[in-house]
Amino acid sequence: MMKQVLLAGVAGAVLCMSAPVKSGELSAANQSKVLANVQAYAPRMSEVALQIWSMPEMGYQETKTTALLQGELKKAGFTVETGVAGMPTSFIARAGSGGGPVIAILAEMDSLPGLSQAAAPDRKPVAGQISGHACGHNLFGSGAVAAAIAVKKWMEETGTKGQLRVYGTPAEEGGGGKDYMVQAGLFKDVDITLYWHPGDSNTAAQDKNLATMSAKFRFHGQPAHAAAAPEKGRSALDGIEAMNVMVNYMREHVPQETRIHYIVTSGGAAPNVVPEFAESYYVVRHPDPRVVADVFGRVKKAAEGAALGTETKVDFEVIGGDYSILPNDVLGRVMDANLRRVGAPAWTPEETAFAEKLRTTLAGGNLPPLSSAHEIQRYRFNGQKYSSTDSGNVSWVTPLATLNTATWVPGTAAHSWQATATGGMGIGVKAAVVAAKTLALTAAQLYQSPETVAAAKAEFEKSRGPNFVYKSLAGARKPPLDYRKTSNGAAPADAAPG
Ligand SMILES: [Zn+2]
Repeated sequence: MMKQVLLAGVAGAVLCMSAPVKSGELSAANQSKVLANVQAYAPRMSEVALQIWSMPEMGYQETKTTALLQGELKKAGFTVETGVAGMPTSFIARAGSGGGPVIAILAEMDSLPGLSQAAAPDRKPVAGQISGHACGHNLFGSGAVAAAIAVKKWMEETGTKGQLRVYGTPAEEGGGGKDYMVQAGLFKDVDITLYWHPGDSNTAAQDKNLATMSAKFRFHGQPAHAAAAPEKGRSALDGIEAMNVMVNYMREHVPQETRIHYIVTSGGAAPNVVPEFAESYYVVRHPDPRVVADVFGRVKKAAEGAALGTETKVDFEVIGGDYSILPNDVLGRVMDANLRRVGAPAWTPEETAFAEKLRTTLAGGNLPPLSSAHEIQRYRFNGQKYSSTDSGNVSWVTPLATLNTATWVPGTAAHSWQATATGGMGIGVKAAVVAAKTLALTAAQLYQSPETVAAAKAEFEKSRGPNFVYKSLAGARKPPLDYRKTSNGAAPADAAPG
C-alpha cells in the first residue's frame, strides 16, 4: 500500500478510489503467465521427478540426480556451476541480470537408507534398491527446478530485472550440505531464499523447528577373556553405558523442549571378549542453538566422566549441526496468498482409492481425513515444530520462506515407506506441481515488489538480532562426503536428525 499512500499524499487528501492491484501484488496477467509457464513444463517435471524416484541416491552420492537437474536447467538457459563448497554433487544455477533482487530457490535431492518402496499402497521394497525417497526429495528437487524454469521464462517475457538462482543442495539427510554452502559465503548476496518440502498437508505456515548437533562418541578399552581374565580387561561398552546413564539422569536438568537421543552403533563383537571398541551416536536438539551447544557440552562431560570411571579412553566427532529455522512472516503471507491462488491438489478416483488403501497401513490414531489433502491449512506463524533441517542454517543468513504441499496421504510420517510410495505416482507429482506454481508466483511477485523484499529483510534483521556472525554448529570440519558409504540399507546408523 506504500506507493498508493504516498501518491494520495501528493494529490492531497484524496482517497484511492479504485484498487486495481494491491501494491506488491502481481497483476492477473502476470499471474496467468507464470502459471502457464509452470503448466507447460509440468509434464517434463513429472518425468524428472519419477526418474529421480526410481534411482534413489543417498547423501553426497547424488551424481545421476544432480546431472539430471543440472541438465534441465542448462536446457532452459541457466549457467550452472558445480561442485561448490567442496561437495561434488552440489550446484548453483544462475539466470537473469543485475538491477533487481537476487532470489534463490533451494533444491534437495538425496534419498534415505532402508526405505525403498514401490509405488504401491502396501509394503513392497524394490529388489536391489537400498534406499528410497522417503522424504520426497525427488519431488523437492524437480519442483524447485520447475519453478525456476517458469520464472526465468516469465522474466524474459516481461523484461523483469533481477537474478534468479537454484541451489542444488546435497545430503540434507544428515550430511548438512547447506551448512557448507553458507560457510563458503554462497548466500552472501542473496536477498530472499524460497523452498518447499513435501508433506501431508498444504500449508505456508512459517514455523520454528529445532536446532541440532550430532556426534559420535568412540570409547577405547582393553580386550581380555571375559571369564578367565576379566580383571585385565577394560570394557569400551562400559564407557558407553556409563555415559548413557549420566545423560539419562541429565534429562531432568535441561531446559524445557530439549531432545536428546542416541543409538549404539558398535558395542563389541562377542560377549566372551571384553569389548575393545564401542561407539554411540548422539543427537541433541532444542529450539535455541545456544542451548544445543550448552547441552552438547554437558553430554561431552558425561562422556569424559564415563571414560574416567571405566578406565577407558573416549574421543568424539561432531557429525553435523543445524540452526533452527528463523521464520519470516512477511514472506510467509506472500507464500500463503499464492498457495490459495494455486489451490490444493485434486486426485483421480484411482488416486483416491490408492490413498484409502494406504491409509489403512498408517499407525497412530487420530489420522486427519483424506479430504484434508484437498484443503489449504490456515496460515500460522512462529509455531514450534520438532524436526530439524539444514535449511535452518540458510534462514540465519538470508530471509527464508517455506511451503508444504500434500505429496503424502494425510497422516503419513516423513521417513516412512508410505512417503516413498506416493512420491512415485500421481499424488506426489500433482502436489509438487502445486508447490512449483506457488514458488514461481512468489518469486515473480518479489521481483516486482521491492517494498516486500525490503520488508522481509527488515523483519529478518530484527528477528536475527544485531551483530550476528554465522558460526557452524558442526564446527570446523569438511563435508562428510562418505557418511553414507558403508550403509547397506539395513541399519541407517547415519540417518539424519531430519
Ligand atoms: Zn526432507
